[in-house]
Amino acid sequence: MKTLTQLGSPRAGTQAFFRYRPVGEKTVITGLDGSWLVLDDDEFTRFATGTVEPDTELEKKLKEGHFLREGFDVNAAAERLRKRKTFVGTGPNLHILVVTLRCNETCVYCHSSRSLMDATDTDMTEETAEQAVNLALASTSPSVTLEFQGGEPLVNWPVVKHVIEYALERNEEIGKQIEFTLVSNLSMMDEEKFQYLLDHKVQICTSIDGPPELHDKQRKLPGLSAHEKATEWIARVNQAYKERGLDPDVYHVEALLTTTRDTLPYWKEVVDTYVGLGCRALFLRPLDPFGFAGKSGPRLEYPRGDFMEYYQKAVDYMLELNKQGVQILERYAAIFLTKILGGEDPNYLDIRNPCGAGIGQVAYNYDGGVFTCDEGRMLHEMGDDTFKIGEASEATYRDLMGHPTVRALAIASNLDVQPDCVNCAYQPYCGVCPVHSHKTQGHYFGRMRESSLCAVHKGIQDYLFTKLGEGDPETVETLKRWTTVRAREHFLQSCNI
Ligand code: SF4
Ligand code: SF4
Repeated sequence: MKTLTQLGSPRAGTQAFFRYRPVGEKTVITGLDGSWLVLDDDEFTRFATGTVEPDTELEKKLKEGHFLREGFDVNAAAERLRKRKTFVGTGPNLHILVVTLRCNETCVYCHSSRSLMDATDTDMTEETAEQAVNLALASTSPSVTLEFQGGEPLVNWPVVKHVIEYALERNEEIGKQIEFTLVSNLSMMDEEKFQYLLDHKVQICTSIDGPPELHDKQRKLPGLSAHEKATEWIARVNQAYKERGLDPDVYHVEALLTTTRDTLPYWKEVVDTYVGLGCRALFLRPLDPFGFAGKSGPRLEYPRGDFMEYYQKAVDYMLELNKQGVQILERYAAIFLTKILGGEDPNYLDIRNPCGAGIGQVAYNYDGGVFTCDEGRMLHEMGDDTFKIGEASEATYRDLMGHPTVRALAIASNLDVQPDCVNCAYQPYCGVCPVHSHKTQGHYFGRMRESSLCAVHKGIQDYLFTKLGEGDPETVETLKRWTTVRAREHFLQSCNI
């Protein structure tokens, strides 16, 4: 590295506001509005010491990247920032209905704390379901997604149907755009339910934990293979979409993966399984500390450094597959890249600033308890009511949105006041989770330098900026492609069907 004397005299006030972080052999700099550059050692030293020579390539690069004070357009920067925050004034779009806690599978990590199949007292009633729908349709958001969760929602099929029909009928007067999503293990699917879901344009989402042996070890279905059941129905649904003339690149079953310690050596098999099932996206999610995963943590958990090694191997492999023409993206990477390369926020509620607790999503428990988010509801099942914000039978939408807990979480997840995030180069693209911090560190705010969630967010962004800094054209092209989200218009319903 050159000394200051070798570099020449600093020009006062050269740099606009920036944060920085070393990635690989280089350094990433980011601005308040999410502008970014990856600089080599000499470039960064010149920039940081205010010794950038006039009329050089470096000066041009910094000026075009919005990193020099001279010529800095404040209004344009404000506009870039505004574009990233359009979600702030909208209101909750995602409304999660836990229609039952009962489930016919036993998953080693069950985040929902499922109940046994005879626990019918954990089924949502039609009355509670209607109260939840009324609150969801009172949202200031012009579009509303009603997501069926459990337990296994198909166990309480009559209430799933009732919610769909009641919501569509009520919405005739209200006129919002509605989407329905079913998150199911698919093992209780049958012809009648399948046709109903297709006819009512319900999106279907399931869990696939990797190849059959791994999936069946983690998700046990007494006497049967949970993997076989889920994959049979994935194929059926995907085929049905094709037969209805829907583009298979856009319309297919979405699957979610939960990574346990047993998953780590199988990064390649996991990717191959998803590609083999026709999935276009794989979400490499680490274990959350909720539900049974919280209790059996020591058996399933792993250091986040091991997770990052697994993540990098899997995504490197996915990038290679993309070069061979296979379309598969990693969902975490796509979320961050949309913010980094696209300058927009994809409104993924758990990596948002502020996060979606209450102001982006609301969760309704089977017994009518209302929570800031599904994770807050999961903690309730573990005996902690911190994130409960009301009862569906009596709360108004205004009560929920103005609840002190919703306000507190909006502040706690605001990265401008998070002591570590405020100095972090990844602040423009990142998000923290107050429920995770509360569970793992005992406080909404948490300490990000010791947070396992921050370790993953930082690790993934380090990986992405390293790739962007290396600049391999094919890799950069693939990463850009991962930011393209094609709307699934077929599932949007704005009036009765
Ligand atoms: S508190 Fe956590 S889980 Fe809940 S919305 Fe915020 S980030 Fe998501
Ligand atoms: S959570 Fe971690 S990676 Fe994200 S902005 Fe905060 S300190 Fe940075």
